[in-house]
Amino acid sequence: MTNSAASHLLPVFARVDLGFERGEGAWLIATNGDRYLDFTSGVAVNALGHAHPHLVAALQEQATKLWHMSNLFKSPDGERLAARLCEQSFADFVFFANSGAEAMECAIKVARRYHASKGHPERYRLVTFEGAFHGRTLGTLAATGSAKYLEGFGPPLDGFDQVPHGDLDAVKKAIGPHTAAILIEPVQGEGGVRSAPHAFFRALRQLCDDKGLLLIFDEVQTGMGRTGDLFAYKRLGVTPDIMPLAKALGGGFPIGACLATAEAASGMTPGSHGSTFGGNPLAVAAANAVLDVMLKPGFFEHAQKMSLLLKQKLASVVDRHPEVLSEVRGEGLLVGLKAVVPSGDLVNALRDQKLLTVGAGDNVVRFLPPLIVTEAEIEESVQRLDRACAALSGDKTKRAAS
Ligand SMILES: *Cc1c(COP(=O)(O)O)cnc(C)c1O
Repeated sequence: MTNSAASHLLPVFARVDLGFERGEGAWLIATNGDRYLDFTSGVAVNALGHAHPHLVAALQEQATKLWHMSNLFKSPDGERLAARLCEQSFADFVFFANSGAEAMECAIKVARRYHASKGHPERYRLVTFEGAFHGRTLGTLAATGSAKYLEGFGPPLDGFDQVPHGDLDAVKKAIGPHTAAILIEPVQGEGGVRSAPHAFFRALRQLCDDKGLLLIFDEVQTGMGRTGDLFAYKRLGVTPDIMPLAKALGGGFPIGACLATAEAASGMTPGSHGSTFGGNPLAVAAANAVLDVMLKPGFFEHAQKMSLLLKQKLASVVDRHPEVLSEVRGEGLLVGLKAVVPSGDLVNALRDQKLLTVGAGDNVVRFLPPLIVTEAEIEESVQRLDRACAALSGDKTKRAAS
């Protein structure tokens, strides 16, 4: 390299030339002191905003006690976190991992092993959906099934049958004697904040029950309050058998978890899975602190109220700027704006207004404020969006005139 400022980070991310050194709630402070309203939340991770005092205190306290001691020994705080997650959900067992993809890998293994332990090792295939995102490991990439992510990495792991999103007939056709489970996101996040009718999820549950399959909800993005309840499945009224979590679980500290019923997990025995760092005391302390805050009365009511406000105000911006935006979609504070202009142009124009957002598939821009966002911050974001749209339509008029 000739440029002394050249980066030694593997160039797999198209990074924006903007660095941050501090965060406060919904705000990020750049190295030059500029304040940005952060509606990326680290891609749905910082659900309690930046530097939440309860999380900071929990991690500081844990840092003086114990960082790591491996899964060779008991973990009282890990036991407590698992018990709390089970108490709040359908699950009986939790496996701790370090990321969403790892939580997903565990989900796939649990589903395959379930059938193998019942004498049906041939039932290892999962039905998956177009537009899905399940991670970047070789297994979860195969589940994601996107040609653009798979290219150049050799033959994808066998065992995934992808069908169009929301197409029940296609699901029925894809199910055969080799099928183990159906895998779906309650709302597709990376795929463009795409949902399906509740009736579709109910029909998947029924199919699984009729055919002895397991239902896996990938709640890595939708879980931990993002859609207005602790888990999206509660709002759908449909209960899965297996549920990977990650993103917001540690409020910014890396931790993933795979939740399962006792029946679904019945194939998992000592030695059948593992992780060196999974359930690390620092990660567990962070996640227990996240739950302390989220389980306080009124927490989700606030997130739901902010969701309604944001979606109403965004809809009025869509009405004012049909040349830039066409639709508001999403659940809770997983909100998508479908753009008419290229979504990347909108993300850039918003960043010029010091509002940070995330692109997604289907030409959508995601608004992912922290769940503790205030009314004033929602109002501020909408004003910034209005200005960005005005700037974009000004550019368009200029281009048309020249
Ligand atoms: C982000 C995401 C993943 C992958 O999580 P990583 O922590 O990046 O491995 C898996 N599934 C869904 C639905 C996600 O949004």
